[in-house]
Amino acid sequence: MEWQNLEKKYYMQVVKRLPLTLVKGAGVRVWDSEGNEYLDLVAGWAVNLLGHCHPEVVKAITEQAATLIQTSNQFYTIPQVKLAEILIENSCLDRIFLTNSGAEANEGAVKLAKRYGKLKLDGAYEVITAMNSFHGRTLAMTAATGQKKLQEPYLPLPQGFINVEYNDIQAIKEATCERTCAVMLEPIQGEGGVNIPDEGYLKMVRDWCDEKGLLLILDEIQTGLGRTGKLFGYMHEGIEPDVMTLAKGLAGGVPIGALLAKERVSLFDYGEHGSTYGGNPLAAAAGYATVRFIVENNLPDKADRLGKYFVSGLENLKKQFNIISEVRGRGLLIALYFREDIAEELLKICLKKKLLVNRVKPNALRFIPPLIITERELDEALMILKESLGEYGR
Ligand SMILES: *Cc1c(COP(=O)(O)O)cnc(C)c1O
Repeated sequence: MEWQNLEKKYYMQVVKRLPLTLVKGAGVRVWDSEGNEYLDLVAGWAVNLLGHCHPEVVKAITEQAATLIQTSNQFYTIPQVKLAEILIENSCLDRIFLTNSGAEANEGAVKLAKRYGKLKLDGAYEVITAMNSFHGRTLAMTAATGQKKLQEPYLPLPQGFINVEYNDIQAIKEATCERTCAVMLEPIQGEGGVNIPDEGYLKMVRDWCDEKGLLLILDEIQTGLGRTGKLFGYMHEGIEPDVMTLAKGLAGGVPIGALLAKERVSLFDYGEHGSTYGGNPLAAAAGYATVRFIVENNLPDKADRLGKYFVSGLENLKKQFNIISEVRGRGLLIALYFREDIAEELLKICLKKKLLVNRVKPNALRFIPPLIITERELDEALMILKESLGEYGR
């Protein structure tokens, strides 16, 4: 309580926090300052792919912290090169630049698109993005993020972003003009409510970009690194992006982001982009340990299997509770939709029963657990959800 009162006194009140002070985590569990244990299906907002304090990540951080934490980027450092190599060798992209967050990676992607527009498309600079997307909190990414409620407090926003309907190829075609240099999309919209586009949509966007010479930028900050059951979301669609961004789970919880691009569009020249911390030895060592574990242990396949298991459990709940309207998800990016706006209330009941879930919409809960979760832990979550749904309305 004391910590929570101090937070209210000192911290900017931008997040309505849940009344929990977390002090410890291990695997899929966290503990609060009162000693209560919780099953965590939020995982640091889809960040902790290997769970909390995974031994491999802890080891990498500890060793690196005792060796070299930060140099400027005017020097070569080994963890940065190792992380670059493993990501490039396991994706369709050729070059990488490391950042400190997702928003910063996306900013880099848009800067790259503007270089591309300037050098290859007669100065075209507009980027088409989708409604209900989420690309980060900087001013430019607020303009890219197609959500009125996030944009309104900051109008006028930076120019050059056109928000169109998601999952609608015609909308992209109509918004394309001589000013357009890129289309930027999430393969599945995460914060927007786990919106999975129709099969073929991304392929049609890819074809349109090819026809018009536009860059296709995929924001895989939430979908990347195994979350959806493949290492990257684009792998479900039989397409390749020109530019891809990563962040969230990339370094096991240490702040990081990455901007990846095909060789032909890696157009930054010396001095045109940079970062003080981006890819520093500490974050990169955590990143390398995380990605290596994901690849070596084939966590994408595991996420695919466990996701299907959890979805079938949720479908069972849907048969028992009429208030559930829809189960959607791919891999371990899953949402449960309701016919009424009960997500907040359900979340609070789950919290009392020591289960952490995310309210992604007034009428939907989202589940973004660590990829190392087990069937037993998913069963436990399903049991608590069932009890909570039973209690709701009583
Ligand atoms: C979380 C998220 C971001 C923003 O990442 P930050 O690290 O918070 O800047 C951008 N895009 C997507 C798809 C995300 O899920």
